[in-house]
Amino acid sequence: MRKNTAKGECLDLAREKKQKSPKNKEFEKLKEGLKNRFVNTAHIMWGRDLNELTPTEIYQTVAATAKQYISDNWIKTNRTYGEREEKQVYYFSIEFLMGRLLKANLINLGIEEAVKEVLDDFDLDLLKTYEEEPDAGLGNGGLGRLAACFIDSMAAHRLPGHGCSIRYQYGLFEQKIIDGNQVEIPDNWLRDGFAWEYRKPDKAVDVKFNGHAYMKEMEDGSLKLVYENPMTVMAVPYDVPIVGYHNNTVNTLRLWNAEVNRDFSDYGMLTQEQMRQKNEYRLFVESITRYLYPDDSTYDGRRMRLIQEYFMTSAGVQSIVRHYKKTGMDIHDFGQKIAIHINDTHPAVAVAELMRILVDEEGLEWNEAWVITRSTIAYTNHTIMPEALEKWPVDMFRTLLPRVYMIIDEINRRHLEEVRERYPQDEGKVRALSIIEDGMVHMARLAIVGCHSVNGVAKIHSDILKTTTLRDFCEYNPKMFNNKTNGITHRRWLMGANPELANLIDATIGSRRWHRHPEQLDLLNDYVDDKPFLAELGKVKRLRKVALAEYIKEHNHIEVDPDSIFDIQVKRIHSYKRQLMNILHIMYQYNKLKTDKSYDMLPTTYIFGGKAAPGYYIAKETIRLINAVAAKVNNDASIKGKIKIVFIENFGVSIGEIVYPAADVSEQISTASKEASGTGNMKFMMNGAITLGTLDGANVEIREAVGGDEHCVIFGLRAEEVLTYYATGTYSAWDEYNTNPQVRLVVNQLVDGSYGDFHSLYDYLLHANDEFFILKDFNAYAEAHEEIMRRYKDKYNWLKSSAMNIANSGCFSSDRTIDEYANEIWQVKPVMMS
Ligand SMILES: *Cc1c(COP(=O)(O)O)cnc(C)c1O
Repeated sequence: MRKNTAKGECLDLAREKKQKSPKNKEFEKLKEGLKNRFVNTAHIMWGRDLNELTPTEIYQTVAATAKQYISDNWIKTNRTYGEREEKQVYYFSIEFLMGRLLKANLINLGIEEAVKEVLDDFDLDLLKTYEEEPDAGLGNGGLGRLAACFIDSMAAHRLPGHGCSIRYQYGLFEQKIIDGNQVEIPDNWLRDGFAWEYRKPDKAVDVKFNGHAYMKEMEDGSLKLVYENPMTVMAVPYDVPIVGYHNNTVNTLRLWNAEVNRDFSDYGMLTQEQMRQKNEYRLFVESITRYLYPDDSTYDGRRMRLIQEYFMTSAGVQSIVRHYKKTGMDIHDFGQKIAIHINDTHPAVAVAELMRILVDEEGLEWNEAWVITRSTIAYTNHTIMPEALEKWPVDMFRTLLPRVYMIIDEINRRHLEEVRERYPQDEGKVRALSIIEDGMVHMARLAIVGCHSVNGVAKIHSDILKTTTLRDFCEYNPKMFNNKTNGITHRRWLMGANPELANLIDATIGSRRWHRHPEQLDLLNDYVDDKPFLAELGKVKRLRKVALAEYIKEHNHIEVDPDSIFDIQVKRIHSYKRQLMNILHIMYQYNKLKTDKSYDMLPTTYIFGGKAAPGYYIAKETIRLINAVAAKVNNDASIKGKIKIVFIENFGVSIGEIVYPAADVSEQISTASKEASGTGNMKFMMNGAITLGTLDGANVEIREAVGGDEHCVIFGLRAEEVLTYYATGTYSAWDEYNTNPQVRLVVNQLVDGSYGDFHSLYDYLLHANDEFFILKDFNAYAEAHEEIMRRYKDKYNWLKSSAMNIANSGCFSSDRTIDEYANEIWQVKPVMMS
């Protein structure tokens, strides 16, 4: 057994233990200070005594108190970055799915325990107070959550890295299930204000749309840009502090809000027509940052989305350049001092916007500006699905952004000149590599041409990208392509969401160093055969399952047995994620229980959660089917509770914090090749669930990390097989249906009234030829479930697998991911705060 005797680690442990110990002097001082600030803050904010405040007001008071511990370090951090002229990273993402911030901030500040005790003294409950905070749901799912994990990790590693996004007035809709159907309710998350934001009107910038742009020849023969009659929108930043873990670093997430121009309120003498125009303008401006688009994969004909993209990107890039110039550094060094990362293509227009600023406003030569732009920008691709690659009609683009379009056209002209030199007489290549093709502006192509690094988000995804979706670009410039496997912040998803497990790990390995160095979770590998440890691990898992069972009792009014297998699939509802396969399999198991008296099934609770895009019919029908099957199966006493099905409403970050830690089985069953990475899979793994999955996305690396198939259950088609089927068009869902009686039975039950009328899904599977191979993978999936049950019966080995998953999950911390971005893409170094 490895003994952890390094002196530094023991000291570290002792020091952190001491900080927590209530008898410690320093801790008492911290508490005293907190208490004074808390009471004063309550008086200042509300003009009332503490005991008169509502729970929401208590929350706001605690948040305001915490902000006092943040603001000094925020100011210091910004000053330090400026004085030392440190290279800065800006992570542009149209979504940041932050969730709640109070607990994360208290943990990162290292004052959670002290705050808890102060509140205790006033008979207030910190855990209940956390619940008062609305989720900042400024994202759809994985992509937005990734951005949130990344800024947490950047601050934790003292990297000068900031976020740039939109301050949506309404986040992703709130989901209610009514009569089994999804109903969408606007998410008015700002109703009681957002405690963590700081409005910065003095840092507003103008963003211009429409109008008429052209080059005019000057008297000296030079060309000058003229941009007439643009519509100007004021972008006002709201800054949110991003607190580093125990390190005094506080970075910034800048959220842009669209507002009417400064001189708007100057009504003066207006004709009715002018008045009408003014009102129209106001309505337009106010609509720009009102809604988050509730669809993270397809973008058909939505001009407002393009407006949002340019609004955020232009405001972000302008403010970066403005701040850069204020530091007095030379614009020619911009690429050495600034890294701009674009999370998917939504901010890809940054390429043209930075060119516009450098050429039109800073007066640089085109070639100079181009070198700077390419060395500044890097791009992450999130999908190989061609239908999800963003493109915009040229007409729409040119009308909305006339000058930006001119620049893209010129970028493309010069780019294609080079392409033609490389591939003379190959117009096929030229078309494939052209940013503008068939009347569309291809945003991924713009991003690739205008940046120096393109990365995928898991090994298999990066490989497939290079051989399929981006093949021509990879052949053209292979050096720029690389992989950065996604990660999740273990501070939120393990330490925050599962403190009992975190404590058990601390006690077991006798060190808390993994809090800062998650790769040290691998010290747990010494204990995966340790019976007392496994027994404790089993207790912790049961605790989390009881907590989820209570949540389900309260919200779904369903009793579930914490000793049953908790088999969980929570994520956006999407055909390729195959929630439909999951529920069809449950129907199959239920049939088997009803007809085969000898079927020996372990009691299983199947838990679903996730939102469907409002216009996504098949996804919504899948939700309806899950609830229809649940209604029948949950109430059939004859199966003695062997199957329970629960659909958890309104899945989001905060509900995820309850759900992920409670899983025995993590359902990661996307059609191989379709899930770029997944990050839910990592959250489950880190909390000790066994992955039941396809060889897709990061599942491949999870399997590698746990040492192969002994500690995960892999099934189904491989990516190459799927891609071959697509290429040859040889898959036939009808063949599966005709030759596989198990498949035929459940598919027939979609239309024979067993659960109501689901012709929608029946047609989807058969007439639309089952585009994601649900029927093809069905038997393998059923067998994988049998394997899960065989393993679960062996309690000891199950717990060992669970421990193996936790012990080897350190590489899926976003701290590891961010270090790779910092070293291999951005070339930024940590900055120590005094
Ligand atoms: C992690 C997370 C996701 C991503 O889940 P996948 O299983 O990777 O699709 C989506 N939504 C929320 C709220 C999350 O926390």
